[in-house]
Amino acid sequence: MTDSKTMDKLVSLCKRRGFIFQSSDIYGGLEATYDYGPLGVELKNNVKQLWWRDVVTSRTDVVGMDAAIFMNSKVWEASGHVSEFHDPMVDCKNCKARFRADHIDLEKNCPNCGIKEWTDARQFNLMLKTHYGPSEDSSSVIYLRPETAQGIFVNFANAVTTSRAKLPFGIAQIGKSFRNEITTGNFLFRSREFEQMEMEFFVKPGDTSEWLEYWSNARLDWYKSLGITEEKLKLRSHEDNELAHYAAACFDVEYEFPFGWSELEGIADRGSYDLDQHTQHSGKKLTWFDSKTNEHITPAVVETSAGVDRTVLTILVDAYHEEKVKNEQRVVLKLNPKVAPITLAVFPLVNRDGMPEIAEKIMDDLKGDFAAFFDAGGSIGRRYRRQDEAGTPYGVTVDSDTLSDQTVTVRERDSMAQERVSIDQLSSYFRDKLC
Ligand SMILES: [Zn+2]
Repeated sequence: MTDSKTMDKLVSLCKRRGFIFQSSDIYGGLEATYDYGPLGVELKNNVKQLWWRDVVTSRTDVVGMDAAIFMNSKVWEASGHVSEFHDPMVDCKNCKARFRADHIDLEKNCPNCGIKEWTDARQFNLMLKTHYGPSEDSSSVIYLRPETAQGIFVNFANAVTTSRAKLPFGIAQIGKSFRNEITTGNFLFRSREFEQMEMEFFVKPGDTSEWLEYWSNARLDWYKSLGITEEKLKLRSHEDNELAHYAAACFDVEYEFPFGWSELEGIADRGSYDLDQHTQHSGKKLTWFDSKTNEHITPAVVETSAGVDRTVLTILVDAYHEEKVKNEQRVVLKLNPKVAPITLAVFPLVNRDGMPEIAEKIMDDLKGDFAAFFDAGGSIGRRYRRQDEAGTPYGVTVDSDTLSDQTVTVRERDSMAQERVSIDQLSSYFRDKLC
């Protein structure tokens, strides 16, 4: 199976099962923009909730916040994004296709039309602009934020004062960001609208390398905790020439996608760059008072910057399996139960003899504690296959034996092993398996 086929099959499964749809599909779509369907939004919410739990609520040294997408344009002048946030772009003079100059070989012909007639490379700013309020002159121009991080930096003083934080401490948030990428692609991997999970960890200057190492390892371990194949995950240190304009050092968590090793998350030493810039441009003091030494210091920052959509894509790619079962092909998403949109599906074997009523009662009893789903449509084999493609870890089937002995069949997705469990034991059975 070639790699492009793997991605094509995943895209088609995502549409078929209601994970991810092309945006504005009935109008022919909008390039590289996607909508999350009923199963996709559950998977995505599970990812965000696990990140929030592991980075914010389970720790005593990180607080959360939620800044607005719209910000004063001065923020982006101070942060360097207006002057520095560029990618080099070239156009093909023949077919007008546009490429990132660092993504293609300019010694070779145009991948689109096969002719070699390049323009000079030019710098292209990646921020999307719009007008804020009713006037459309230059004074009303604002940018859609290209990262959530600046919402944290400009609130540094607010957060320190109100949470009485002591160094080292972090501020985290999840939210949408926008970048006018020259080239998009690989499904959810590179799109112009995406969601970030970012955390800025403020430390004493001089402590950054220690915390860069700590957070790089912690973030790599987090992806492993989602059940992603360990051999396909690694940390990679950035070369000096790939560092962003604000970063002194950076590690990427990378995953081996069908299209090659690519970045899932960046962990960067931003030094005191952002707080220094905002102090200078706003005239406001953004320091922390060390009561032990009686000094006002500008903290340095280690940032962890993860993509929600990239994490969802990684989980889906990693979980996708095709198997031969009794000479038939089975497609199964081997999702970790922690992230699976549906934890267990309840089926009546047939729609008579009181089986649907018993199954609905089981569903009602379990749905408060587990993400349960009821399905009475089609043969039991088809229903199992649909849930295999949805990544549902367990199936519970009410059959004719249930009527006499009050037990049901529990089927495990990956092994397809089945066992009989008493209805009154189901809740504790799943609690043992899942919690
Ligand atoms: Zn061309």
